[in-house]
Amino acid sequence: MNMAKMQLTVGARSETGYVRNENQDRMSGDLTPIGNLYIVADGMGGHKGGALAAELTIAHLRQEMGDADSEDPVETLLAAAFQNANRAVYDKSRSDDSTIERMGSTAVLLLLSGQVARVAHVGDSRAYLFRNGQLNRLTTDHTRVQKMVDSGILAAEEAESHPDSHILERAMGIREDVEVDISAGIAIEDGDGFLLCSDGLSGYVSDDEIESVLNSNASVQEIPERLIENALNKGGHDNITIQFIQCGDRRMDTRNSTNHAAGLHGTRKALTLRQIFVIFILFLLALGAYLYLT
Ligand code: CA
Repeated sequence: MNMAKMQLTVGARSETGYVRNENQDRMSGDLTPIGNLYIVADGMGGHKGGALAAELTIAHLRQEMGDADSEDPVETLLAAAFQNANRAVYDKSRSDDSTIERMGSTAVLLLLSGQVARVAHVGDSRAYLFRNGQLNRLTTDHTRVQKMVDSGILAAEEAESHPDSHILERAMGIREDVEVDISAGIAIEDGDGFLLCSDGLSGYVSDDEIESVLNSNASVQEIPERLIENALNKGGHDNITIQFIQCGDRRMDTRNSTNHAAGLHGTRKALTLRQIFVIFILFLLALGAYLYLT
């Protein structure tokens, strides 16, 4: 597959959600010398701090990756970009302004470079790969609850409703250094879709429900709208941010019920047209007979 010929289509939206009156999520999409770069950041730490931490995280990651030397290995570039962005948020949080003290942010980054995708993240904003009708989670939440699941203390089913599910183990700007998870390279296939989101989506809508929206007949632009609608219907009161990046044409699960219903609808429409045609012919025959007889 030639990456240069494969079209990328992006659907993106950020919503405040119920109760909250400000949005502390931020996102970006850029073309850099080393590929297409997409980021979602979810800020935390007070009225002013959260939004600022998310903004600084995105600004520094974009700048670092935009200026990156394409000769260096991608892992090295990503690791350096996260360290420098982390340090920028950390330093700012320790300035004289007490309203931004202890601010921090998550960050999930997707880099589509040639025929290879890479994901890097800190915190609980997620990346998913949607391939051949199936949703695969590419990130592991850096939360206290996920740590409990990993060590066998808590069952995965209990994790979703756990009161501490939002407590982060890692975030940008909290400590002087940050540990970042960088995925191995994923060979991109034509039809792949990548989803980036903040926990305003994944905290309310299950992976199965996200998968069924991706398997619906929604367009790339409609996907974020529908997912946000699902989160709000479930009482979502956090900021919700979604980016869906489609590589080539959409490829869904053909067994999907929505598509099946669309097929039935098409058949019904075709029958109706045929009926109209028959009625028209009968009308012409009747008219001919009337004119002939009178
Ligand atoms: Ca959030």
